[in-house]
Amino acid sequence: MKLNRNQFNQQLFGQLQIVFGFIALASLLWYSISSSPPSTPSQYSIPTEIIDQQNNRSQKVMAEQPTQKPREQQFQDQRYSVVEGDTLEAIFLRKKLSIKVLQDILEADEPYLELDVLRPGDHLDFLIDQSNNRLEALSRIVDPSRTVTYQRNEENFMYNETLTPTTKIAEVTRGQIIGSFYVSASSSGLSDKGVMTITQLLKNTLNFKRDLRAGDHFQVVMEREVIDGQSIGKDRLLAARILLRGKEFGAYLHNDGSYYNAKGESLVPALLRYPTRKKYRISSSFNPRRVHPVTGRVKPHNGVDFAMPTGTPIISTGHGRVTRVANHRYAGKYIDIDEFGAYSTRFLHLSKILVRKGQQVERGQVIALSGNTGRSTGPHLHYELHIRSRPVNPMTAKIPMLKSIPNNEIKGFDLHVVDMQNLMLSKEKIVHLNKQHKNQNKQAKLQVQLEQTSMPSSTTSPSAG
Ligand SMILES: [Zn+2]
Repeated sequence: MKLNRNQFNQQLFGQLQIVFGFIALASLLWYSISSSPPSTPSQYSIPTEIIDQQNNRSQKVMAEQPTQKPREQQFQDQRYSVVEGDTLEAIFLRKKLSIKVLQDILEADEPYLELDVLRPGDHLDFLIDQSNNRLEALSRIVDPSRTVTYQRNEENFMYNETLTPTTKIAEVTRGQIIGSFYVSASSSGLSDKGVMTITQLLKNTLNFKRDLRAGDHFQVVMEREVIDGQSIGKDRLLAARILLRGKEFGAYLHNDGSYYNAKGESLVPALLRYPTRKKYRISSSFNPRRVHPVTGRVKPHNGVDFAMPTGTPIISTGHGRVTRVANHRYAGKYIDIDEFGAYSTRFLHLSKILVRKGQQVERGQVIALSGNTGRSTGPHLHYELHIRSRPVNPMTAKIPMLKSIPNNEIKGFDLHVVDMQNLMLSKEKIVHLNKQHKNQNKQAKLQVQLEQTSMPSSTTSPSAG
């Protein structure tokens, strides 16, 4: 159990109440001093009553401390396994938890939307105070490397996440074409996502239906993130090539998060900076420390808001696949798109969605019409750009705009390509990549550590840039 029970111990609980009591007391005093000159006595009588209540409440908490049994004994962890058709609301109702509390949690989740899609088999952990059936914390195990927790803080919930370090390994798949590329690659053990990514990356240079012949070769390197040898479901393509009677059609992931062929020419058009054909005024910037305009609380603003009339066509900023189409109480109708490489995008408060989950979309394709759905202060589009699942400022983030790798990076890229090709040919099927540490926003360096036995001459590759 990842929740720290000490956080719920009574002393802290009592202290928090006292602290909040004093904050409330101080604010009331400040309010009465600063906002109203002492002209009407009635204005004083109201705060005094409240101050008395606050004092009583604080004293009551302190007085109860020695007599009350430690509250932590009343907390109970309940693990819930999601089944087909479950919704959070249904789970809350079944557990007789307040729907108001669910709304508070959904509000805390609005910048992240981690609770919005529950899959059968997902685990939710409820920490419940059994004395009053009050939810103290809710956790969701997003994947074995990451758990998000919504923890009670008075009447609100605070979001935080717990990360477990993963190890990255490169897995090599090789095979020959027998029938279609899909059938051949699948029977060699490549995942559907791997096949799909390769097909999308190479489709402009290679006609998969017409050009492939039986006996042509393919070689693929996938990166897998594992904990104790178990994949956590985050695989991505590092390199692939199809050899047509010896001629290479290749795709290599560069450290800018985009794919290039072996000559360093881009295979994916650059992401567009703006999700609309016309530029609209920014009404709220990307700001991880923003104070929310409606609630007044600090809440990260993980995207950029563009003010625009409802019904404005929204375009996909890159080539990718729609991974989520949903409707959220606060985020409104929204779409997630997984772009190739390291990028994903998110569009909130839409009025109409024109794509479906799983659909491939092209850069510049109209995917939705803007709107004002969910909790919104006016018609606008909220647009997010994520690099390796972390939100970045879409207006300033370095996004690959390159037609080809620049001269000062090409040497490093060439070495990287050679390393990947060696890996494709190596006897080892699985090779350990160097561990990447917490800051995933930093460009990942793909330093391949080949096993000494297989490739003694090339142990590391300096990564470009
Ligand atoms: Zn926004």
